[in-house]
Amino acid sequence: MTKTSFNIVICGGGLGGIAAAIGLKRKGHNVTVLEGSSALNEVGAGIQMPPNSIKILTEYGIFDRFLPFVTRPKNIILRRFDTGVPLSTTPLDPDMTDSYGFPYLLIHRADYQRLLFEAATDIGITYKLNARVDRVDDKTTTVHLTDGTSYTADLIIGADGIRSKVRDTAVVTDETVLPLPSSNCAFRATVSREDMLADPALAHLMSDVNSNCWIGYRRHVMAYPIRNGEMYNIVMSHPGQASVGKWNEPGSVEEMRNHYKNFDPIVKQLLTHVKTVLKWVLADLPMLPKWVSENGHVVLIGDAAHAMLPYLAQGAAQAIEDGATLAELLDQATTNADIPALLHTFQKRRKRRTETIQAGARKNGHIWHLPDGEEQEERDALMQARDGHNPDQWSDTEFQRWLFGWNAFTD
Ligand SMILES: Cc1cc2nc3c(=O)[nH]c(=O)nc-3n(C[C@H](O)[C@H](O)[C@H](O)COP(=O)(O)OP(=O)(O)OC[C@H]3O[C@@H](n4cnc5c(N)ncnc54)[C@H](O)[C@@H]3O)c2cc1C
Repeated sequence: MTKTSFNIVICGGGLGGIAAAIGLKRKGHNVTVLEGSSALNEVGAGIQMPPNSIKILTEYGIFDRFLPFVTRPKNIILRRFDTGVPLSTTPLDPDMTDSYGFPYLLIHRADYQRLLFEAATDIGITYKLNARVDRVDDKTTTVHLTDGTSYTADLIIGADGIRSKVRDTAVVTDETVLPLPSSNCAFRATVSREDMLADPALAHLMSDVNSNCWIGYRRHVMAYPIRNGEMYNIVMSHPGQASVGKWNEPGSVEEMRNHYKNFDPIVKQLLTHVKTVLKWVLADLPMLPKWVSENGHVVLIGDAAHAMLPYLAQGAAQAIEDGATLAELLDQATTNADIPALLHTFQKRRKRRTETIQAGARKNGHIWHLPDGEEQEERDALMQARDGHNPDQWSDTEFQRWLFGWNAFTD
């Protein structure tokens, strides 16, 4: 238990906000999460859980709750877009556990959020739905909701995503932070286990469990089973535009199939089973000048601070690391007056790491999406060299060790 118990309000009850709430509550603080939606709202798609996030869930004592719902892939396999020939393989099971102490897993986003929510409410966190933040007053450390309600706290945490109100009204106030939409969107879809098993061309994808990623010019398809093999999840990155921060715009199935008409016959066959798709623009944030407000009692975490492209599958993991580091540092406070200095230490500990990961994700996107030609041939040759250096950041030995081996409690 902490020496001092603070009143903490977390704005935004997504994966990052709830995980931070658990970390802080475990240290004895009073935590209220204000979520703008009317219900838990993660979309029906998969998400990868790298070992650096599993380490934290394990430390929180909640990882066992996830076991019935996760899938354990053997490898991440980057494949040539049109033939499916493997270009680079990152071994995951048992290699991740052997190297970093924790596995690399796959899960349905709705399960991830629900399991975190249950763990949070079981330990007494207050989670309020329909609590939409309008603005934060940094001078009085008060959150004002759109319905006129307000909450004053010792610490306010902005975990309200890429279009953060907390960031725009209390932290970075002397300029407008505009998210950087990339030139790519993602279609997201799932196919049922029954449909996969009934198709002889696809059934093996459910038994030989891997994260498969077919890469080509400006497009890739990442696909893997989720919900312990109940469904197959597909993320398809392609040139396009949609609204930043909207994660559930319906897309056109016909347009989606057309984007991948030159892909591996297995991908095309897979897409014949897709009945509906969601479309998201892929965006990240520019480097922010700061994460801590002027008065030092408001701080940003997760996508509000460092939204990143999904090409390293680290956005949620980094949000979860933020919460763990913040809870650990705050444990050193003896009075409310200690909070500003500790938040600045938090910023120092987290900002460079997350900015490096943002850059790594952009780099992965660049090298995956090369057109066929000299640069692509060089990339493929480097991927095959197996000398520890790999243009794919997941497989580069040094980057991988730093990425997955991180201890957010102490590093
Ligand atoms: C295509 C794609 C694939 C991805 N794959 C992976 C992956 O495999 N692994 C991984 O780790 N990450 C992945 N990510 C990234 C990951 O989804 C995000 O980084 C992560 O969800 C961020 O969590 P967050 O809690 O910081 O923000 P969010 O998930 O955006 O949550 C913000 C919450 O705040 C609420 N909110 C917003 N505004 C307000 C307001 N004004 N008042 C109150 N509440 C508000 C929202 O309703 C939401 O619940 C992927 C992202 C994309 C786009």
